[in-house]
Amino acid sequence: MTPTTTPPELAQIADAVRARQRFVLSSHSRPDGDAIGSQLAMAYALRALGKEVRIVNSDAAPAPLMAFPGVADIEIAGDAGGGFDAAIIMECGDLARTGVAGLDRAFVINIDHHPGNTGYGNINWFDPAAAACGEMVFDLVAALGVPLTVEIATHVYVAILTDTGSFHFSSISPRTFEICRLALDAGVDPVQTARQVFDSGTMARLKLFGAVLNAMRFDATGRIAVLYLDQEMARAAGGTYEDTDGLINEPLTVKEIQAVIFFKHVEGDEYRVSMRSKGAVDVGAVAKTFGGGGHKNAAGCTAIGAIDALTQLFVEKVSGTTGWTAS
Ligand code: 5GP
Ligand code: MN
Repeated sequence: MTPTTTPPELAQIADAVRARQRFVLSSHSRPDGDAIGSQLAMAYALRALGKEVRIVNSDAAPAPLMAFPGVADIEIAGDAGGGFDAAIIMECGDLARTGVAGLDRAFVINIDHHPGNTGYGNINWFDPAAAACGEMVFDLVAALGVPLTVEIATHVYVAILTDTGSFHFSSISPRTFEICRLALDAGVDPVQTARQVFDSGTMARLKLFGAVLNAMRFDATGRIAVLYLDQEMARAAGGTYEDTDGLINEPLTVKEIQAVIFFKHVEGDEYRVSMRSKGAVDVGAVAKTFGGGGHKNAAGCTAIGAIDALTQLFVEKVSGTTGWTAS
């Protein structure tokens, strides 16, 4: 299937790929389902064309994704090394988000859907309307004339399933379902895939969810939930920070809750802040003011300060995107 309107970058990238032989693929640090799915779909497509492919990421894939084809072969390194003709970077608004040095030693192809992409590539294909970077990779695979194998389809489907928050987010389009339909036609099992992505966790993870949700606080309007986690809480629950994937979405299951701010203690006064929201609440704009980024309904940043002051500041900023009064 071809996209409704074919962007000129798609043909440029297809030509650039055909003209080169050795590829390095990378995506953002702490990769999510869209990062991993986009990379693996691309890798299988390139290999189908007889290309040499390495995938280099700064961090390992989340445990539930390790079971999908090819994920265990991803190299974890801080440097891309040499011997490649082009780097294809997916899911990264800027090159530093990879956490991998040296990707720009060769021709750089930038494929992304994050608002604010800095255009760091020799070719830049940026589509903020895509529900997942995996949708863009799907188009590229088609443009390269590679048949949709079950491996490619699985990874495109995982990218979409995870990046739409299981088909919850506003970025979903008819095309999202059209791609998913074709993925199912190619042999993807949506039940088994969802079970593997969402229901293959550990007891420690469930206990950690309990501990964090038990300590949840709210703003004065009851519309913003604030979550907090530090290493001591993680240890007490028998889990790790990696076990918190998906936890941030739980408060949004409450009708009244419109936004979630999740502070994870790093060290000293430093916190990783993840945010999720419903509808008009623009947490992407808030993350941007702290030097982070993301989308309107899913964003993140790093913040430095005392936790009480940070909590108040983030609650004010999130409220400020909606016009609520939080006092
Ligand atoms: P998460 O909360 O899952 O870490 O991130 C949610 C979304 O915000 C993702 O799309 C992710 O790419 C983006 N994001 C998270 N942290 C950062 C950051 O520090 N910088 C930028 N530019 N984007 C981020
Ligand atoms: Mn994405």
